[in-house]
Amino acid sequence: NAGTGKFIVGGNWKCNGTAESVKSLVKELNSGKIDADVDVYVAPPFVFIPRVQKELNNKNYAVAAQNCWVSAGGAFTGEVSADMLADADIPWVILGHSERRALCGETNEFVGEKTKYALSKGLKVALCIGETLEQREAGTTLDICRAQLKAVNDVVTAADWENIVIAYEPVWAIGTGKVATPDQAQEVHAGIRKWCADNISPAIASKIRIQYGGSVNAGNCDELAQKEDIDGFLVGGASLIGEAFVTICNSA
Ligand code: PGA
Repeated sequence: NAGTGKFIVGGNWKCNGTAESVKSLVKELNSGKIDADVDVYVAPPFVFIPRVQKELNNKNYAVAAQNCWVSAGGAFTGEVSADMLADADIPWVILGHSERRALCGETNEFVGEKTKYALSKGLKVALCIGETLEQREAGTTLDICRAQLKAVNDVVTAADWENIVIAYEPVWAIGTGKVATPDQAQEVHAGIRKWCADNISPAIASKIRIQYGGSVNAGNCDELAQKEDIDGFLVGGASLIGEAFVTICNSA
C-alpha cells in the first residue's frame, strides 16, 4: 500500500544564513537542474523570505515558512500569523518541527490547532512528527507518531489532509549525522500510512506524502528514496548546500 503522491522535497534552512550566504545559495539553486518529477519547497528564516521570493526564479521551488502562529494576528509579540503568510504569497508552512516541540514547548494539541488554523487560511502544511532516542529504545516509536497525528486529526477534517504532507523525522537523526536506515524509515512510514488508512481514510492514506527527515544528504538519499513508503525528504543541513540539495531533489 505504498503512496501514490508525487515525490516532495523540502529544505529547512532553520536559523541559518546571512544576506550574503542566502544570495549565493539562491544563485546555486537557480543554476541547479532538477530533472526529476518532484515538488520542492525551501523554508528560509522569515527575514530572508522576501529576498528568496524575488531572487529564486527557478520554477521548481515554492517558498515555505518554518513556523506560524496559532490564530489570527494581534497582540502576539514576535509571532507571524498564517494570514500574513497567505497575504505574502507564501504557500507552505512547516509546523511541529521537533526543535519547536522541544525548545519552545509546543505540545501535540498546540501543533494540531496551528495546523487547523494554517489550513483554514489556505496554506499547505508540512507536519513534522517523530520520536526521541529514549522513545525508540522503549519501543514506543509508533505510539508517539500516532499521538502526534491524532492531535491533528482530532481538529481537522479528512479533506484537510489533502493539504498536509507528513514529515517523519526521528529526533535522534536530526542534525546528528545518524540517518535512519532505509528499513528503519520504511517500517515507520508504513505504520504511519496504516494509521492514516484506519483513522482518516484509505483514499487519503494512499495519496498522502510521507517525507523522511534526519541527516539526509546527497550520499544517502538514493537508497532511502527506493523505499516504497518514502515519498520525499525534509532536509536541514544539506539544504544549505545548493548542489547537495539539487541532488537530493533529483533522487525522486
Ligand atoms: P538535518 O535536519 O537534515 O540537518 O538532520 C532535518 C530537519 O530538522 O528537518
